[in-house]
Amino acid sequence: MSWPSLRRYLDPAGGAVPGFQAGAFLLAFILTALISIEFTRFSGNVAALWPANGVLCAALFRLDRSLDRAIFLGLAIVFNTCVNLMSGQVLAVSAAMGAINALDALIAFQLIDRFCPTVFKFDDTRQLMRFSLIAVVAPTIPALLAAASLTMQFGSDFYENYRIWHVGDALGLILVVPAIKLWLNRSQHHGIGRPTLQVIAYFALLVTIQIFVFSQTTYPLLFLLLPVLTLIAFQLGPVWTAFATLLCSIIAFGFTARGLGPAALIPGADLIERVQFVQFFISVVFLTSLPAAYTLAQQSHMREQLLKGESDLRLAKEHAELALSAKSEFLATMSHEIRTPLNSIVGYSELGLRRPDLTPELRNDLSIIKDASVSLHAIVNDILDYSTIEAGQLRFIATSFCLGDLVAKCIELTSVTADAKGLIVVVRIDEQVRRLWVIADEQRLRQVLLNLLSNAIKYTEAGQISCSVTLISEAVRSSVVRFSITDTGLGISEKGQQGLFQRFTQLETGRQRRFGGTGLGLAISDRLVRQMGGRIELQSAVGLGSTFWFDLHMKHCESLEERAEVPSTSGNPQKSLYVLVVDDLKPTRDLTLAVLAQAGHRALGAASGAEAIRMVQAEPVDLVLMDVQMPEMDGLAATRAIRGLGGRHRDMPIIAMTANVLSEEIELCIQSGMNDHIGKPFSWADLLLKIERQARNDKSLPTEILWP
Ligand code: ADP
Repeated sequence: MSWPSLRRYLDPAGGAVPGFQAGAFLLAFILTALISIEFTRFSGNVAALWPANGVLCAALFRLDRSLDRAIFLGLAIVFNTCVNLMSGQVLAVSAAMGAINALDALIAFQLIDRFCPTVFKFDDTRQLMRFSLIAVVAPTIPALLAAASLTMQFGSDFYENYRIWHVGDALGLILVVPAIKLWLNRSQHHGIGRPTLQVIAYFALLVTIQIFVFSQTTYPLLFLLLPVLTLIAFQLGPVWTAFATLLCSIIAFGFTARGLGPAALIPGADLIERVQFVQFFISVVFLTSLPAAYTLAQQSHMREQLLKGESDLRLAKEHAELALSAKSEFLATMSHEIRTPLNSIVGYSELGLRRPDLTPELRNDLSIIKDASVSLHAIVNDILDYSTIEAGQLRFIATSFCLGDLVAKCIELTSVTADAKGLIVVVRIDEQVRRLWVIADEQRLRQVLLNLLSNAIKYTEAGQISCSVTLISEAVRSSVVRFSITDTGLGISEKGQQGLFQRFTQLETGRQRRFGGTGLGLAISDRLVRQMGGRIELQSAVGLGSTFWFDLHMKHCESLEERAEVPSTSGNPQKSLYVLVVDDLKPTRDLTLAVLAQAGHRALGAASGAEAIRMVQAEPVDLVLMDVQMPEMDGLAATRAIRGLGGRHRDMPIIAMTANVLSEEIELCIQSGMNDHIGKPFSWADLLLKIERQARNDKSLPTEILWP
């Protein structure tokens, strides 16, 4: 045995084979050999069970190297020869028997290792059957050799010698190897961790019943053992079942050898026949109880795994939910914090640009600030939109609108940039859809069209942009409409088209890229269109240009009342209103007051929720623009308090005007009693339009829909 390996044997803390185990193996081998010899002698020279080779075989599994195994077997032969000599055998027979036993263990070890290496790991119950077969086959050659040498030495019957040796050996292997192997790998198995009292109780029951069954010669009560062994298989698992079978066989052979037990009831049977009967019985017990214990243990292991998996999943879900809610909270806060100053930048630059006394230089400076702030606003919107879509929190608001008007509006908004680049913009709208009123999320559809149009303009140096809206098919209450945007720009190669709709995909990257942008526009548009039931398609050739298109199934808006005609906001309002602007930030308040004044409304400001409540009672206010996030009393509480005043305050239009723009935040506003919502930075047109709508007492609130 090599030194490191020997050290592992000798050193309990040194590795896979602690020293006490090696000692235990050798001791167990000597003891079992001694007991087997004594037992054989005591039972009329019939070796009913030969467990020593099983111990040897199990020990071989603990050694990694062939050399170590050879040395270990050599030691075993020496010990076995000594034991045989002590029991009165001559040297030649003692040595031959020692060698044959070692050969037996080695053959069994090789076969098990080769054909069912995972037999004691619960991988497969079939492996246990294979192991049993190996245990039956393995002693063939050693038994032949042993029978031959015994016959030569003592002149006894060769066949009888062979049969006794073979069956005793096979049974020894079958009973001992699993018991030892399972015990050594017990940490992987079920049942070994059962409370000691429970184990003692079951074993006491087994021993009592077995003694009862085997100590008498009146009734063949063998069947009484089966329920106990089944109970042990169910309750204690494979390790204890293996030991129970071993114990069972020792008691059974002990009593049978003394002429007691059910085997004694076989009429005319001699001792060998009785022992064979018990051997057969023990084999059956082993082949039924251990597979049953295996299967049960496997099932309970799987159940445990399943439960563990479930709890891991639950934990992971909780973590994910926590992370998601932290992310949403972070986004909401960041969005609010960026939008609030942005509102002032966008608003004041717009306000400044409207002043008649501006010098050209100042106008130019203000335009730059305004354009930059609009770009920044778009980026903030993109990031928030994408995160909302990713979190699956995007909701659609259905309103009725005229398709032709929507497209015209988008063209109007983008044509300024197209004109600046000298691009021709062509619009083709089918007659059937030009005046078609549909019910859909106008904002989201506009967002997609604007994004595709802006891209077409951005990535085209010369030529034209065309936008066409075509009727694909028409049913009684709905139509399928195709929206396509074509440009004569850079075009996109086939390779570039792959993954174009993934977030942050840009064809030009690095420090030299010519175009700005977040790389989120197409990803957002694609997801929006998908959620509306369509899909953006693309046809493009480098140098020739691109066409992006998508088809949408659109519900018709049939009732005239549902049609929310867009009032003009360009001129003076139809009716001048007295508007209360509630905002804790003075610059925001002043900006809104100025915009309202320019639009012909009378307006006054309140710096807090409490002040707003006082003012709506003191002044003949027509409409309130209410900020949400304010110290002491927020806009939601203030709205509830105003509604609580009763009388005209119950129906007074209150519009949230806030940097809280997430859909759940909008929902909170509506739930608190507000009539509508305007996000900051606000667009002048949007603000005036919504005020106008409330003034016309248009109570048709946008309804949330699930698409399509
Ligand atoms: P962004 O325009 O902000 O970079 P998008 O998601 O809108 O992000 O577009 C992703 C990429 O797809 C762009 O960076 C550009 O390379 C390419 N692309 C989009 N539209 C066009 C187009 N009409 N022509 C050529 N390339 C385009």
